[in-house]
Amino acid sequence: MNIHEYQGKEVLRQFGVKVPNGYVAYTVDEAVQAAEKLGTAVTVVKAQIHAGGRGKAGGVKVAKNLEEVRTYADEILGKTLVTHQTGPEGKEVKRLLVEEGCDIKKEYYVGVVLDRVTSRVVFMASEEGGTEIEEVAEATPEKIFKEIIDPVIGLSPYQARRLAFNINIPDELIGKAVQFMTALYNAFIEKDCSIAEINPLVTTGDGEVLALDAKLNFDDNALYRQKDIMELRDLEEEDEKEIEASEYDLSYVSLDGNIGCMVNGAGLAMSTMDIINHYGGDPANFLDVGGGATAEKVTEAFKIILSDSNVKGIFVNIFGGIMKCDVIAEGVIEATKQVGLELPLVVRLEGTNVDKGKQILEESGLNITPATSMADGAEKIVSMVS
Ligand code: ADP
Ligand code: MG
Repeated sequence: MNIHEYQGKEVLRQFGVKVPNGYVAYTVDEAVQAAEKLGTAVTVVKAQIHAGGRGKAGGVKVAKNLEEVRTYADEILGKTLVTHQTGPEGKEVKRLLVEEGCDIKKEYYVGVVLDRVTSRVVFMASEEGGTEIEEVAEATPEKIFKEIIDPVIGLSPYQARRLAFNINIPDELIGKAVQFMTALYNAFIEKDCSIAEINPLVTTGDGEVLALDAKLNFDDNALYRQKDIMELRDLEEEDEKEIEASEYDLSYVSLDGNIGCMVNGAGLAMSTMDIINHYGGDPANFLDVGGGATAEKVTEAFKIILSDSNVKGIFVNIFGGIMKCDVIAEGVIEATKQVGLELPLVVRLEGTNVDKGKQILEESGLNITPATSMADGAEKIVSMVS
């Protein structure tokens, strides 16, 4: 789960990470009031959307007086921002963060992520802050420093110091930078984050080390024990289909392609996407209906796939272990009855009650193309949509 910058800064503040003062605003008047309350010479008006790259897209403006705050708030609220992270359709701005302006000396990058290769939390830092870290990683990877963290010990002070030295934090601010990183790491662990990224972290004219931006992502599987984080969820920022899927306990992620996938098991779902790619197609979604899906759940899953207007064909790829193939077949039929099906549908079934499942589909009179294997199915659906 993703939250807004202003919420992320609030969470980080609780752990002692230094952030500028600021207030959220939903209207232009609220933005002006927020700036009055701050009473700083310079205020920054920042679009709050679940995506980065706002600065470049005109979503971050520096205001020198209340009139400018009003002008910028009016300009940004309601605007659709298109950044490299929003996709071409962009995201409409419904909230602002009005924050005190900082006297930036230099911008840095720090990020805490899970590294799947070492199965450890990794702390990354770079002197190249403010820009996209992906670009730095591509062009000058030697400018990104990493510390792999032992889960028992946590981020050691010497590791934080080494990072601070490597990214050339001025000597007199090393102590503050170490404190900052330690607090950030603690927040990451305590709040079950999957990403905690500060870009930029800045040093200021009056000798502070501050987070000017904050991107926190949380592990959905841990949200049951992070009730306060759950409350920060902003459904308006999420894909409608994904929200519906989460109501039915389906793992669904919408993607850019045109082949809808219905699969059981995350591993099979991933490899189904891979094999579609292998045959030159593009999946429209990741969808894991889970191990013990009912016909009702399968029906919902099917409806969600069909509600995506980009979908030009569907590939059902099921291995019936706990899940029974006849249940899947019934779900497919029920869903197509409810919503109609004009698209090509390829079904590959294997496992428990496979013959019964195949028979149900055959007798349904629906226009279904059976597949004998995953590869066969992928090849068929790709050729049918292209
Ligand atoms: P994004 O990453 O979405 O572009 P940021 O929050 O990183 O948004 O802001 C972009 C840039 O705007 C920062 O790199 C920084 O230079 C400037 N900026 C952001 N917040 C402030 C602030 N409170 N004071 C001064 N400059 C700021
Ligand atoms: Mg940023």
